[in-house]
Amino acid sequence: TPVVGVLALQGDVREHLIALASADAVARPVRRPEELADVDGLVIPGGESTTISKLAALFGLLEPLRARVRAGMPVYGTCAGMIMLADKILDPRSEQETFGGIDMIVRRNAFGRQNESFEAAVDIAGIDGDPVEGVFIRAPWVESVGARVEVLAEHEGHIVAVRQGNALATSFHPELTGDHRVHELFVGMVRGHAAAGS
Ligand code: GLN
Repeated sequence: TPVVGVLALQGDVREHLIALASADAVARPVRRPEELADVDGLVIPGGESTTISKLAALFGLLEPLRARVRAGMPVYGTCAGMIMLADKILDPRSEQETFGGIDMIVRRNAFGRQNESFEAAVDIAGIDGDPVEGVFIRAPWVESVGARVEVLAEHEGHIVAVRQGNALATSFHPELTGDHRVHELFVGMVRGHAAAGS
C-alpha cells in the first residue's frame, strides 16, 4: 500500500487525509523533512499559497520538497497547492516562492471576488463516468502551459486541471466532495511510480 503524505503546514489537510484513505492509501501529515523522506507521494492542499510558501521555508521544506519533485516523486496540488506546483505565478502583489514541477503560469484568485466560491461539473480526461463536481474557492486558473504539460480539464475556456509527468494539479477541491476519483487517479500514479522504482 502506498504511503501518501499531505503537506500539513496550512490548509485543508484533514479532508485530504480522509480522501486518500478512502482511495486505499496510507495517509500521513508531513511537516518535517524526515516525514517527507518517508512518503511515496505528496498532496499539497488548498489554503493560502503565500502562507504555505512562507511556512515551507520556515520548516526547512522548500529545498527538500523541490528536490523530491525534481526526482519524480508524485505530487498532487489542489488550488493553493496548484499554485505551489507552478513554475511561474502571475500575481502582481507578491513575489512568492513555489516548489515548481509543472511548466505552467498560474493566475492566483483568477475566478474573481464576486465568484469567491462556486461549484461546477468538470470533465477530467482520464476519469470515466459522470463529470467531477468541482468546488472552486478563490481559485486560480492556468494561464498557459509548456509543451510537456497535459491539459486534463477546462472550465469556461480556462485550464483547471493539468498533469506533467508525476505532477498533477487542479484549481478545485475534490477533497471537499464525497467523490474520490481524482484521489484514486493520484494514488494510482503513486502506486505506478513505487512499482517502477522497486
Ligand atoms: N486564493 C488562494 C491562494 O491564492 C487559494 C485558495 C484555495 O486554496 N482555496 O493561495
